[in-house]
Amino acid sequence: MSGFDEELKLRLDELRARDLYRELRRIDSPQSTHIRIGGKTLLNFSSNDYLGLANDLVLKAAAIQAIEEFGAGSGASRLISGGLAPHDELEQTLAQFKGTAAALGFSSGYAATTGTIGALMGKEDIIVLDKLVHASIVDAARLAGAKLRVFAHNDLNELEEILRWAALRPASPAARGRPRTLVVTESVFSMDGDCAPLREIVALKERYGAWLMIDEAHATGLYGLHRRGLAEEMGVSDRVEIQMGTLGKAIGAAGGYVAGSRSLIDYLLNRARSFIFTTAPPPAMAAAATAGIQFIQCDAGAERREMLWSRLAQFHAGAKEIVGLSASATPPASAIVPWLIGDEAAAVHVANSLRAAGIFIPAIRYPTVARGQARLRVTFSAAHSATDVEALLSALRQLALDLPSPDASTTNRPARS
Ligand code: PMP
Repeated sequence: MSGFDEELKLRLDELRARDLYRELRRIDSPQSTHIRIGGKTLLNFSSNDYLGLANDLVLKAAAIQAIEEFGAGSGASRLISGGLAPHDELEQTLAQFKGTAAALGFSSGYAATTGTIGALMGKEDIIVLDKLVHASIVDAARLAGAKLRVFAHNDLNELEEILRWAALRPASPAARGRPRTLVVTESVFSMDGDCAPLREIVALKERYGAWLMIDEAHATGLYGLHRRGLAEEMGVSDRVEIQMGTLGKAIGAAGGYVAGSRSLIDYLLNRARSFIFTTAPPPAMAAAATAGIQFIQCDAGAERREMLWSRLAQFHAGAKEIVGLSASATPPASAIVPWLIGDEAAAVHVANSLRAAGIFIPAIRYPTVARGQARLRVTFSAAHSATDVEALLSALRQLALDLPSPDASTTNRPARS
């Protein structure tokens, strides 16, 4: 086929030469604190299953029940004939959980973001992004064709400068009206584990008449009195136009959602292409997500969250003594503790050494993070035991002597409920 494979092999060789080559690993166990890879059981500090719900009996029973009642597949897109009762129940549960008028489920968080931004923004509009937002947000902004402006990570001065500039832009004759400005940020940043200053961002977007979308992928289930997310913790939920998240992390299932006003949801189900032109998620997935949200809302959810914070505190106390590992004085702000290594090859080496010691934390490299910012992204779960955390600490103590000086500090910490 006229050198097609040869060209791809050359491209792959180039990735290998830059220590950026990735490959799939087969996990022969459920997603849990211990996973089986290649016949070996490893202690897993890499998943986003923050509350330990992915393999919980309650979620599994809900999924099985949905399969019994509604089958394995959903048959069509939601707007054709694929909208089954579990999808509707999920959306009602989501809206009630988030305290919004309505919610819409998507097949993934990635689809929720691309569909939403693409539906709301056009080429006359301006999308303003934090420099460290997730790839799904960057891709969505590019797809929308809007003008893109990026502010330095959590830099409110730069955000304000951009918003001031955007507010003064005249409408072009071709535009349907005033150009719209949409600010998009994560609430807890996926690769750094720090938090956005949401109160200040909300105040700024209101001052300059912009809209705000927040991605609560790593915060849903973990912050706020009702565990709705960081917007609840910061008391700004009612002032955020679009709250987006995933069902695949603390909620323990898979899929994505947008929560907000009834008109937002009605608009999205009419215009979001990633919602309209795709088969509805399997009913089992929607039912498991509903069970996950219900779990989070009850006392057991509160207990799991406390367990997670106590494991993080245990790690923080132990990590302080490991030279070069943690520079931060306060416990981590989230379940994500980045351990910055820098060089890609060095990060892979550290990940391999940990794996040899029975601990699974893959190296995170470009393009997930910037070049030269490779890191181990250590993630904690309420399902980890104190013994698991101690095992991690002792493996890190062994490794610490040969390591370059990392920076595991997190910058913007909320008081946690
Ligand atoms: N936003 C953020 C911040 C994420 O980390 C992720 C997943 N890694 C997504 C969106 C996408 O969510 P999903 O995995 O459900 O597509």
